[in-house]
Amino acid sequence: MASLNAAAHAQAVWKEVLEYISRLHGSWVRQWFTELTPVDLSGGILVVRAATTIQQQYLTGKCRDIFNEAAQAVTGNLVSVNFVTGAGAGGGLTRLGDAYDDVILSPDYVFDNFVQGPCNRLAMVACAAVAEKPGRAYNPLFIHGGCGLGKTHLLQATCQDILQRQPGARILYLSCDTFINHFMDCVQAGDMAEFRFRYRHVDVLVIDDIHFLSRRDRTQEEFFHTFNTLFQANKQIILSSDASPNEIPDMEDRLVSRFNSGLVARVDKPCYETRIAIVSKKARLRGITLPDDVVAYIAKRVESNTRELEGAITKIQGYAMLNGGKYDLDVARSALGDIVPMSERQIPIQQIIEVVVKFYNVRLADLQSKKRHKSIALPRQVCMYLARQKTRYSLEEIGGYFGGRDHTTVMHAIRTVTEQRTHNEQFAGQLDRIEATLTPLQAQSA
Ligand code: ADP
Ligand code: MG
Repeated sequence: MASLNAAAHAQAVWKEVLEYISRLHGSWVRQWFTELTPVDLSGGILVVRAATTIQQQYLTGKCRDIFNEAAQAVTGNLVSVNFVTGAGAGGGLTRLGDAYDDVILSPDYVFDNFVQGPCNRLAMVACAAVAEKPGRAYNPLFIHGGCGLGKTHLLQATCQDILQRQPGARILYLSCDTFINHFMDCVQAGDMAEFRFRYRHVDVLVIDDIHFLSRRDRTQEEFFHTFNTLFQANKQIILSSDASPNEIPDMEDRLVSRFNSGLVARVDKPCYETRIAIVSKKARLRGITLPDDVVAYIAKRVESNTRELEGAITKIQGYAMLNGGKYDLDVARSALGDIVPMSERQIPIQQIIEVVVKFYNVRLADLQSKKRHKSIALPRQVCMYLARQKTRYSLEEIGGYFGGRDHTTVMHAIRTVTEQRTHNEQFAGQLDRIEATLTPLQAQSA
């Protein structure tokens, strides 16, 4: 039991620790930090109680260095911070054991902090329904979409919501990489029984980024059986991926059809209004208030994905710190001045070709030749389309570059690709993936 004195001392130090962090590591601050309770400071250890296991694991796993730095700076002693939970705060999240414990749930990734918009409504509603009735609403639930659009957030929110409703639920949440590595280790050790026991005795299995199973034949086979066992026992399966089931390359047909058999929901890029709401929400979570014009400025400048919106807030926070904590349009402008809107960014044409050539497995010489075979013509049209969208070259220049064709050919290519993109979902997905790998000059030099 901590003595009264130690508790009071802990309280005073903790207050300074929080101030230090908000001064020097502002982007780490979360509003819920104010709910943490310092309980003791003795023997060089500051003990702080978190309200939930998820908070405690997050603080220990992600924030420990920063808190230790702060505790040492404010006390001038070699103090470290130890996060604990109160009695009864345990969650039922099944842990895999140290070697495989790569995923720490973030207390930020809950439904309350997720902004709904036309871009993600179906996915969000489906996750909420599954959280309410695991194994009975949609099974499996398959969420797909581009990078930074909230898939991981939704998966973690679903886990946390289930835990809140059923603290005893056995949930296994992991990245696909973990599944693959664990599988390979167990194969090598000849311990498949252990592996199967782990994955087949849960109520909810959540695997993030399942597209990494692509080309992993043996792991796919094992996952197929895991899937069937759980599915037949009415256990919930939730998966996320950067592509729809049909678009994941080299995925067994029987798995694709399993993935498609439940609910498949796509998350898209957020529209302007949704971006506004997300920026406001993220700022509030960090305990800062941004004026409306600053929020609008961020939402206008940063349009590609939500992760970049957060990066923009972090930048502005840094600048504001240097300007006496003021958040106004001038600060936002100087902080984001170097973020050029996507529409104004330049991609080198060599990079476009490199990516397309690799994607379609063709040769540059063929793209620049007169060949008209479909296997060459389509990648060539995609190159022309992307060159027109992402560079400043004229139709004539682009035509000249791809085998001395005239500008009407380029126009035709652009029209064909645009048309296909709207009407052919599989093709649209391919283009999304190609575009996602292009890095603008701006970002490269940053
Ligand atoms: P993904 O897994 O799809 O790559 P994440 O779930 O990691 O994306 O999201 C990236 C960041 O954007 C996270 O910090 C997440 O909280 C945030 N985010 C994405 N979509 C939303 C949303 N609709 N509302 C609030 N935050 C969002
Ligand atoms: Mg993710």
